[in-house]
Amino acid sequence: MTGCIIFLMEKVFDCVVVGAGPGGLQAAIYLCRFNRSVLIIDRGGGRTRHARHIENFLTQASITGEEIIEAGLGQARHFGAFVEKATVSNVRKVADKNLFEVETADGRRFLSHFVLVSSGARDNLPKVENLHRFFGTSFFVCVDCDGYRTTGKKLVIIGNSEKTLRLALAMRQMYTKDITVVLPAMKVPPGYEDALREEGIRLLTGEPARLLGEDRLESIELKDGTRIPCEAVMSNLGYRLNDEFLKSLELKRDEKGFKYAVSRNHESSMSGLYIVGPLCGNDQVVIAAGGGALAAIDMNRRLVDIHSSQ
Ligand SMILES: Cc1cc2nc3c(=O)[nH]c(=O)nc-3n(C[C@H](O)[C@H](O)[C@H](O)COP(=O)(O)OP(=O)(O)OC[C@H]3O[C@@H](n4cnc5c(N)ncnc54)[C@H](O)[C@@H]3O)c2cc1C
Repeated sequence: MTGCIIFLMEKVFDCVVVGAGPGGLQAAIYLCRFNRSVLIIDRGGGRTRHARHIENFLTQASITGEEIIEAGLGQARHFGAFVEKATVSNVRKVADKNLFEVETADGRRFLSHFVLVSSGARDNLPKVENLHRFFGTSFFVCVDCDGYRTTGKKLVIIGNSEKTLRLALAMRQMYTKDITVVLPAMKVPPGYEDALREEGIRLLTGEPARLLGEDRLESIELKDGTRIPCEAVMSNLGYRLNDEFLKSLELKRDEKGFKYAVSRNHESSMSGLYIVGPLCGNDQVVIAAGGGALAAIDMNRRLVDIHSSQ
């Protein structure tokens, strides 16, 4: 073990940030600029790095997610954050010391006054051939992010719930008249078939198998061989939270029981543990970053008391 890692493990950080997404990086930048000590633990990858054209972030006409994350890491390091590449496997409270212990899969343990969780989510994707060729350019997963890019295009929407049908009606209003919805063998709830037909939205039952086209998407093929010409696909299959390391804490969830319940300042039901990004709300860069700033300002207010009583 190197001297630097031993130093990090002996130190009590003001905050350990789990996940270098926009929320975690924004929080780290704020905390470092309050001259607080911050360790960011990130395993690499992440949804933001997959975003190829972010066009809804203030001041950026178009930027990739990779550029945002790399710039954010550079900015956090510049103000003094430590960054470790590792997977967090457990977070627990050391009750008698009122500290958190953050454990990594390679067996290291780090202590902190606060923890900020910004570990994001992973998309449920259909098992279709050539997905990576088109992911983020003409195969999309989020209407708030990329709905605009389907404007005037021949669009296929893949989904498995009533939400998908509502999405189709909304996208018909906002972006394009040329929509085909592909559902697995799902019974369409009463009223929807007529509503979709009235809007000229086609409804097909089937399992998508492959995306076709070389430089640009030309069609999607279903397992039964049906080919649907299209220029864009919106997948509406939801996502899973990257929260395995929080399971033992039994944190309170929101009214739907899926995401975590947090306060206005993004504190979870466990005092000192803050959560930002899609784990507790909307999965947008600017919203995750705003949550990170709110959490950091709140933590810093409490750190003033913690450090003045030591
Ligand atoms: C194709 C695509 C396009 C998008 N386009 C836009 C857009 O145009 N505008 C917009 O605002 N948003 C867009 N988004 C959404 C956006 O990228 C993120 O969802 C949002 O910024 C929230 O990010 P996050 O911080 O929660 O998660 P992420 O960016 O996923 O970051 C989480 C980080 O935590 C790490 N991590 C996870 N688990 C652990 C663990 N156990 N230990 C250590 N590290 C861990 C991950 O490796 C990752 O680095 C898009 C997403 C996708 C997939």
